[in-house]
Amino acid sequence: MPAAVIRIATFAVLLALGAAAHAQAPAASATRTSARAPVAPPPTIDVWPVRDNIYMLVGAGGNTTVQVGPDGMLVVDTKLAVGGEALLAALRKISNAPIRYVVNTHHHGDHVGGNAVIASAGTTVAGGNVSGTIGDASKGAAVIAQENVLARMVASMPQPAFTAWPTDTFIDGHKDLYFNGEAVQILYQPKAHTDSDSMVFFRKSDVIATGDVFTTTGYPVLLPNDGGSIQGVIAALNRIIDLTVPADKQEGGTMVIPGHGRLSDEADVVEYRDMVTIIRDRVKSMVAMRMTLQQVQAAQPTRDYDARYGATTGFWTTAQFVEAVYRNLMEEKNGG
Ligand SMILES: [Zn+2]
Repeated sequence: MPAAVIRIATFAVLLALGAAAHAQAPAASATRTSARAPVAPPPTIDVWPVRDNIYMLVGAGGNTTVQVGPDGMLVVDTKLAVGGEALLAALRKISNAPIRYVVNTHHHGDHVGGNAVIASAGTTVAGGNVSGTIGDASKGAAVIAQENVLARMVASMPQPAFTAWPTDTFIDGHKDLYFNGEAVQILYQPKAHTDSDSMVFFRKSDVIATGDVFTTTGYPVLLPNDGGSIQGVIAALNRIIDLTVPADKQEGGTMVIPGHGRLSDEADVVEYRDMVTIIRDRVKSMVAMRMTLQQVQAAQPTRDYDARYGATTGFWTTAQFVEAVYRNLMEEKNGG
């Protein structure tokens, strides 16, 4: 399949997921590439060392975070299904250590798509099977997620393979692991980007993988029927700010790996939190003035941020964002 076709196929998958706001722009590459290549090249995945034994893997969907050491490998998010094999190859370039855990930050297909490939290539700490076992989830790596990830994957059509499903779910609060000499906390964030969000805090390395409650690429994505909310996103951003500690001159310190976009620190999250909070407050005051959605859209409550975060095309436009915030706040006002 030519590169253009696979790019478009990726785009179609994202369309179905409603996650294209997070995707690399496929249109430009589609016009640039021709039909000369008989075999599609694998999606490009870049490996960025973050700190000590933590890596950030960029491309083919949401960002992936990897922690590796004597106990094996822990992988946070597995990108699009089309990127699963490329992700596995990228992991193997970092280390041949056994993949022990996969953690999913939420249920979207650009974060869980490679689960089957990655989990099947791994082994549980207790199970001790040979690496590379296919088709037997009990012998693969454990897949940890908040229980709504499993519920939403099971309910989705087409249903992902059984080997992709979380094997180890938790309900509220958090789940703790001690892995590679480090406390790892999986922190549930209710009703944020979705109703299945968790952040992963590597306490010794001082790195947080946030999933899509924080991205550097656009406004918060609050798709209808995903169970997210603007207030939940702000709560999640404030929690990241609580957990992060900056180094000198408010730079560096705790590193923050967003769901999409570039490696960040506390100052980046503060800037984003302020932006989201200001827009929320503007829309809230418009709701209090009983403005209709049409009037709120006309008033352009995001105008000064649109050059940086806005979109007029694609899956998650500025108008969709404003509408989601408006509907959330209307529900809140009406006691919903
Ligand atoms: Zn998402």
